[in-house]
Amino acid sequence: MTLNVMTEISKLDQIIKPSGTMLISNKARELREKGKPVIGFGAGEPDFASPEYVVKAAINAAKDPKNHKYSPVAGLESLRKAISNSVMSHSKYAVEPSNIVVTNGGKQAILTALMSLLDRGDEVIIPSPYWTTYPEATLLAGGKPRFIETSKENDFKISINDLEKIKTDKSKVLIWCSPSNPTGVVYAKNEAEEIYDWVFKNNMWILSDELYEHLIYEGETTPSPAIIDKDLNNTVIVNGVSKAYAMTGWRVGWLIANNKVINLAKKIQSQATSNVSNISQLAAEAALTNGLEITQKMKIAFDRRRRFALEKINAINYLSCIKATGAFYLFVDVSHYCTGLIPAVNSSDDFCNWLLEKYFIAFVPGEVFGAPGYMRLSYALNDEDLSEGLNRLEKAIKDISG
Ligand code: GLU
Repeated sequence: MTLNVMTEISKLDQIIKPSGTMLISNKARELREKGKPVIGFGAGEPDFASPEYVVKAAINAAKDPKNHKYSPVAGLESLRKAISNSVMSHSKYAVEPSNIVVTNGGKQAILTALMSLLDRGDEVIIPSPYWTTYPEATLLAGGKPRFIETSKENDFKISINDLEKIKTDKSKVLIWCSPSNPTGVVYAKNEAEEIYDWVFKNNMWILSDELYEHLIYEGETTPSPAIIDKDLNNTVIVNGVSKAYAMTGWRVGWLIANNKVINLAKKIQSQATSNVSNISQLAAEAALTNGLEITQKMKIAFDRRRRFALEKINAINYLSCIKATGAFYLFVDVSHYCTGLIPAVNSSDDFCNWLLEKYFIAFVPGEVFGAPGYMRLSYALNDEDLSEGLNRLEKAIKDISG
């Protein structure tokens, strides 16, 4: 018998990057397990526990044998009704339960939506800095990411001009996220509507990631494109319970789209995962049917932390960040410290590694979001850790400044 050698794996291995936000969280977790006092500003997830009524609903669901079985691919009817009602009262547009597919978190909704919209080689326009998963999900779906570079001087916002410049006859989708992960920027109503109008006129899709819709602390709220595109001819919405109800680990998201997209999304989901865990779905239903009180409570805490962090960071030598008004992220310009000032630190990636290894504070480097020279900070952590972590950042900079 001849000795066998491993057969090649997919070339996808050279194309797809792992999630940078998840990498940082894992690194921080590993250091913590080794007893290091790590403070995590990495992956964005509320520090709050899920509401008591959510946990109770899950316990009850687990006890009911009906929930031990497969359920409809698109999601439980009762949850889809709850989503539809919540959308109507909070997001101000109407959607039928039949236009919703429940997914394993917002992340799966994005991938399924892109698989449903793209043919091989179709281009997806992605404003940069972008959430790390958008380009990878585009590639997984056979599409080609095309980036619009934005600048901090323009509050990291795109314009119609940028869209005109990047558009080709292959452009199919614009990925839209306001409030933005990673910059925390929120588009005003007129700015957003101008962009929507352009997308509709150009017969493209807008994939609107609305995970942070309830977390806007000041200024105008961005209206959903679904308010204008009532028939969802050009709009797909992605949302979920992770951020607004402190439920990241339950993995419940959804996509909202017209019947044609939904039918394809259901085909994909039926072959990929069947249904989302019934326990998690019923927990999500409890979240959606108990109002936004919990969200408001968290929002007050996030806002306090946002103001504190903004002031603290902008007071540190050569660090700066724009006044983010939504989500729970600050996007900090650290470029001054990425040019060899610190031994072996020549990028924001190096800078974040240095902060993690020497000061035990975990930030996500801008490279992960297509913006070297920056780092992202999630302020969804408790006040004490936030204060201690930023003191360490201040000390780190003082140490190098001498
Ligand atoms: N969306 C969060 C973040 O950007 C969670 C991590 C992830 O899913 O990538 O940090």
